[in-house]
Amino acid sequence: MNIHALEAWYEKNHRKLSFRESKDPYIIWISEIMLQQTQVETVLPFFERFKDKYPNVSKLAQANEEELQKDVEGLGYYRRFRNMHLAAKKIVSDYKGIFPNQYKDLISLPGIGKYTAGAIMSIAYDKPYSALDGNVIRVLSRYLGIDLDMRQEKNKKKLDEINQSYIELAKPNIYTQAMMELGALICSPKQPKCELCPLQNHCDAYHHDRIDQLPVLSKLKDKKLFLYITLILNTGDGYYLRKRDEELLKGMYEYPQYDAENIQYVLTELEAQDIIVELIDSSPTLYKHVFTHQIWMMETYFARVLKGKKDDWIKIDRNAIKDIPMAVAHRKIKLYDKIK
Ligand code: SF4
Repeated sequence: MNIHALEAWYEKNHRKLSFRESKDPYIIWISEIMLQQTQVETVLPFFERFKDKYPNVSKLAQANEEELQKDVEGLGYYRRFRNMHLAAKKIVSDYKGIFPNQYKDLISLPGIGKYTAGAIMSIAYDKPYSALDGNVIRVLSRYLGIDLDMRQEKNKKKLDEINQSYIELAKPNIYTQAMMELGALICSPKQPKCELCPLQNHCDAYHHDRIDQLPVLSKLKDKKLFLYITLILNTGDGYYLRKRDEELLKGMYEYPQYDAENIQYVLTELEAQDIIVELIDSSPTLYKHVFTHQIWMMETYFARVLKGKKDDWIKIDRNAIKDIPMAVAHRKIKLYDKIK
């Protein structure tokens, strides 16, 4: 690979993103975690607010967990932020608040895998550690003409080894960012701008007209469909919500919802527990939310609680609902004005 041409291209053409201009491992860490599965444009405003509020690892370690979840509401994949909080606490307790600069220490922190550790080591500390993300997989699969399925770990591992051999010949800080940026700006999934690419001369896919076929990514399993009965429960002076303890969206608030066939079944179940709920409107509103691996269809009823409550229902004032961390799936449910 003409690494020199790649690095020169990066120096001249990269976007001036604030986290790309930094060599602070803390900044690189939070930006890389936010960028996982999330577009740069979506991340930018969150990142700026986040780094102003939590400018260093000690401040992040001291964060209130619920407030932290509210700060990242809308980014999805919330487990990454719970892990980030745990990792910050560990850096404070085990490393006196000084960000580790050894790969083995980074990889032992919650939520930091091979990619993130490689990104921090190379970008912050200029050490040759491969960071293979989706963009880099695409660039290398095409450049080298590799038609192995990149959903398979063993194939990704092979590509990671090749990437490692390249970074050892490069300026690590520039190389990692250049590969990420090339994948984002030039070697895009559809209609890559090969005429502007510094790797075009030796690109296998370009010269053999196979760009559309690479990388090979086998089809993901179909998303699982969940049909929920969702209750907006008015208490007279607030609403009942619950805090999720399921792994998906753990710690986020939601309106109580039930994996049930119909509303009558739910009402009967509640009644058996001495909880009386009266529907305000018997025609539900249907909401849909698509996650990476799940689809939620939520048949949503507005109701009044006349008697009793479940242990995990928490009363929240209507005006406070906007301030609690809530998954977008439920944030999109509109509270009707007819419910006072
Ligand atoms: S020449 Fe085209 S396909 Fe090959 S690496 Fe560059 S942008 Fe990607």
